[in-house]
Amino acid sequence: MKHLSALLRTVALVLLCTLISTAQTVSVVIQNATIIDGTGKASFRGDVRIKGGKIERIGKIKPSKMDEVIDATGLVLAPGFIDIHNHSESGLLSEGAAANQVSQGITTILVGPDGGSPWPIAEYLGKLEGKIAPNVGAFIGHAEVRTQVMKQDTRRTATPEEVAAMAKLVEQAMQEGAFGLSSGLEYDTGFMASIEEMIELARAAARHKGIYMSHIRDEEEGFRAAMEEAIRIGKEARLPVQLSHIKMGNRNVWGKSAEAIQLIEAAKKAGQDVTADAYPYTAWASTITVLVPSRKHEDRVEVEKGLNNVGGADKVLITSHAANRSYEMKNMAQISAEKGISPIDLYIEIVKNGGAGVVCNSMSEEDVKAFYTRPWVMVSSDGGIGGRHPRGTGTFPRVLGRFVRESKWLSLESAIHKMSAMPAARLGMKDRGIIKKGMNADLVLFDPNTVIDNATFAQPQNLATGIKAVMVNGTKVWDGLKPTGAMPGSVLKR
Ligand SMILES: [Zn+2]
Repeated sequence: MKHLSALLRTVALVLLCTLISTAQTVSVVIQNATIIDGTGKASFRGDVRIKGGKIERIGKIKPSKMDEVIDATGLVLAPGFIDIHNHSESGLLSEGAAANQVSQGITTILVGPDGGSPWPIAEYLGKLEGKIAPNVGAFIGHAEVRTQVMKQDTRRTATPEEVAAMAKLVEQAMQEGAFGLSSGLEYDTGFMASIEEMIELARAAARHKGIYMSHIRDEEEGFRAAMEEAIRIGKEARLPVQLSHIKMGNRNVWGKSAEAIQLIEAAKKAGQDVTADAYPYTAWASTITVLVPSRKHEDRVEVEKGLNNVGGADKVLITSHAANRSYEMKNMAQISAEKGISPIDLYIEIVKNGGAGVVCNSMSEEDVKAFYTRPWVMVSSDGGIGGRHPRGTGTFPRVLGRFVRESKWLSLESAIHKMSAMPAARLGMKDRGIIKKGMNADLVLFDPNTVIDNATFAQPQNLATGIKAVMVNGTKVWDGLKPTGAMPGSVLKR
């Protein structure tokens, strides 16, 4: 017995030594980089040493024989990008390497936005442990807990007992590591929720220092009331508010970004913590039924109004329609011309046959710019693995290539800040999002003169170019052309 325990002790000691020595030998020095640290401060030339998954030193570094050296002359070294609004929850289970994510420089993905999340959170995160290239964290979705409690019967207000039961589930998810409560009040499952229900559930998230992140009830004519609702939920439940993919959704509200900005900045001035994120496209992607907010999907007048509001049937691209795959990747004007029916009849037919996924080009670039240049708006993709909108594959390089280099809307430092330190602070992450000694080595190396998105509406999966290397927790996951196959991503908990 004594011998056995001595033997075990020896084995444990040998194992421990092996672990330590592996960690010690894996050190990398990135030399001659233009470092943009994520804080928004001006770039500077320097070297960074990475050891044991962390940033060990920044400055002028003379590499030792033990160091692997990466020459970064002419390249920018930035903190890995953190995507606060990402729909890769099922994609990560089937493709942990997440090629179209890490190829953009994304090192941390937050899943579960818009009210839709995995359940239970702990079980989902457990399945990813050791099998993912990027880090992953989750939100608990309002529609998910609503469905858990109310089953299929969600198109009504919830009883106080049901709200209490939902709050318990939010509480559980927060204990399991969720970063906050997400909602998608424009969607059917969440639409009938009262503000009282939302405040009650947000309180459960607030008790565990979570945030309230919302795809608000209306992103078009009713945006003002919808934003006010989100802000009031944050105020009464005493937690920070994140407005998801802030936008002016159709032509009737073009130019009203100024009004939205005023409303949010007034709330901030009054002491409330409100921020937002945005994807860099003038087209949104959703379900076809959001075109008719009155939800009278067979009312010809309402359907006509809905199509006019976005600029006509040619602006609506059908990306998925299970009942008739031949409609996919054609716009509604094309399909109705081919069938010899009106776009109104086509809409009614599609909704009757189970609905469709659509990409709708109905925003103005001026509004996108107005939001993007506010200091409280960060970058998010609203995309993910396998999505049908180019934002899933192009978002971060698109901001760097088009908004920074070509249009000069933003400085490179400010764009990087919106992709790293700003979302990290919003999520309460203290060990990522900045290039600083002791931080986890989530890093992206890119060429600021060439970085660009290549994903288009016709080919949304085309990978970006110009991202030369991506590291997660000190291990390279993207080599500039393909994933390395390493799975160093951590499961992150609030
Ligand atoms: Zn959304």
